[in-house]
Amino acid sequence: MANAPEDGWRPRTLSVHAGARRSQYAEVAEPIWLTQGFVYPSAEAAEARFLKAGADEFIYARYGNPTVAAFESRIAALEGCDDAFATASGMAAVSGALMAMLRAGDHVVAARALFGSCLYVLEEVLTRFGVRVDFVDGTDLDAWRAAITPQTSVVFLESVSNPTLEVIDLPAVAALAHEAGARVVVDNVFATPVFSRAVALGADVVIYSATKHIDGQGRCLGGVIMGSREYIRGTVEPYMKHTGGAMSPFNAWVLLNGLTTLDLRVRAQAESAQALAEALQGHPKLGQVIFPGLADHPQHAIAKAQMGGPGTVLAIDLAGGKEAAFRFMNALRVVLISNNLGDARSIATHPATTTHQRLPDDQKAALGITPGLIRLSVGLEDVADLRDDLMAALAAV
Ligand SMILES: *Cc1c(COP(=O)(O)O)cnc(C)c1O
Repeated sequence: MANAPEDGWRPRTLSVHAGARRSQYAEVAEPIWLTQGFVYPSAEAAEARFLKAGADEFIYARYGNPTVAAFESRIAALEGCDDAFATASGMAAVSGALMAMLRAGDHVVAARALFGSCLYVLEEVLTRFGVRVDFVDGTDLDAWRAAITPQTSVVFLESVSNPTLEVIDLPAVAALAHEAGARVVVDNVFATPVFSRAVALGADVVIYSATKHIDGQGRCLGGVIMGSREYIRGTVEPYMKHTGGAMSPFNAWVLLNGLTTLDLRVRAQAESAQALAEALQGHPKLGQVIFPGLADHPQHAIAKAQMGGPGTVLAIDLAGGKEAAFRFMNALRVVLISNNLGDARSIATHPATTTHQRLPDDQKAALGITPGLIRLSVGLEDVADLRDDLMAALAAV
């Protein structure tokens, strides 16, 4: 039996209790139903279930599984969405959400500043199937206005872009999209489910890579697509269950437990990120400190209005370019060199040579991915140790 959220439960309570499914043993901790299939009491019952499965009835783990369903219910309750479909990774969620709703001849308008794999799906995959895709500067409302037409069916954006942390005015873009009859699909990883107000601000579909803050401990891949029940069950589920991007029950169990502590972790990480951004600002070795929580961020006011907090990731641009960036990274002792984000461990990434290596130089320049740019995902360590580590590494440059 699924534990339905009570009306009025607040997010911290939902993140602990929503969607919990208990067996006949009424265990406290959520069990892992590590099973690919389910036994039917009779041939007639199998026939009936394939015709229409009830709320607590499952057929095959590619279609759904009780542990995965518990994760879906909890994250949907937290985000304030009707329903969710969990996927094998964040990219299975992005590609699944888009492929499920688009067909040849459709028009998509997307912000240009995107995670590398999102850009690949839009630029290289969708266009192969006759979908027209136009990219705009996500912070330029006139560019959105010019690109969105009555033929546009989907608008896609990262509410806060990776790695340059541009914040898109979601209500304004959603209004333009809805006026044209298009649906707004938001990759909301950097906003996190804790600080997200995407649905209230006009998003029709919200996507997370659960690999990031939802796990938060760097253990497994996962993703989730959220929206109206009609969209999730009528559009997404048929596509996902036949194309195979399902989340594993084991990963769903890890991520379900990740949700339990998500609020505490993200708030602590964001508080440290704010303190570190302020401490780094104006450092002589840095050309720029980019963080939505700083008053000099170009979209600081928008970030404040549409997010419950500034996020857990900042970017710094070393004035000395790639050589300085590498020297800085190699001098870090607490912060790890890796490419995840949202982890309990602080992580430094050099986008130009790793996550965004594939992009030609002119595109990197257009996106602000300079040779000196480093993305810092702030973890749960003592903020004083992080500050000391960053300052010592800057001194070594
Ligand atoms: C990481 C990330 C993804 C992809 O998620 P995976 O779980 O790695 O597949 C998509 N969008 C954004 C913004 C991301 O940061």
